Amino acid sequence: MTFFLTAFVALSGMGQSFTDVERDLIYSRDSTDIMRVLSVYDEADSLLLRKVSADVTVEMLQAPEYEVLTRRLLATVSNPDDRGVGIAAPQVGVSRRIVAVQRFDKEGKPFEIFVNPEITSRSEETRLGREGCMSIPGKRGEVERAEEITLRYIDGKTFEPREETVKGFTAVIFQHEIDHLYGKLYIDYLTSAPEEISGR
Ligand code: ZN
Repeated sequence: MTFFLTAFVALSGMGQSFTDVERDLIYSRDSTDIMRVLSVYDEADSLLLRKVSADVTVEMLQAPEYEVLTRRLLATVSNPDDRGVGIAAPQVGVSRRIVAVQRFDKEGKPFEIFVNPEITSRSEETRLGREGCMSIPGKRGEVERAEEITLRYIDGKTFEPREETVKGFTAVIFQHEIDHLYGKLYIDYLTSAPEEISGR
């Protein structure tokens, strides 16, 4: 119950929709739905990747831009030429709290959209795993993450507030993508330079 109230307050009263710059990006057209992924190797992109993303408002969820943005985020992360297991809106230049995560813990491993996600608790138990990032092409590194997390978010399809506990690799993807919303990248956790992925 407390959770419902909090989610409502978080979503209301901001009276703000997508900015003109965001709208231009969302409606930018090449031949496909795939959007350009910002890269840490580009200076201007890098600054955007380090920005803290803002909350998504009710107005935004109701705006036509939301549907287009989420569809294009899913197309971008499923790009056969550069596939990912998750993506955050700031990676395509929209500094809003939206992530897409591939649910390896669900049948058929679907991609799902999460709005204003927040990690409310992390297990003490951790796991070490290799991570890469669509914004840091050609590199990977080993990162220690919580084995299990509890999340709070607005379901990207039904717009219902939810709370959920996730474990394993899917929990790692959530931690990586939610970090993007705070301008944080996996390389920030590494004690040495990330390794090159051979053959790229
Ligand atoms: Zn990433």
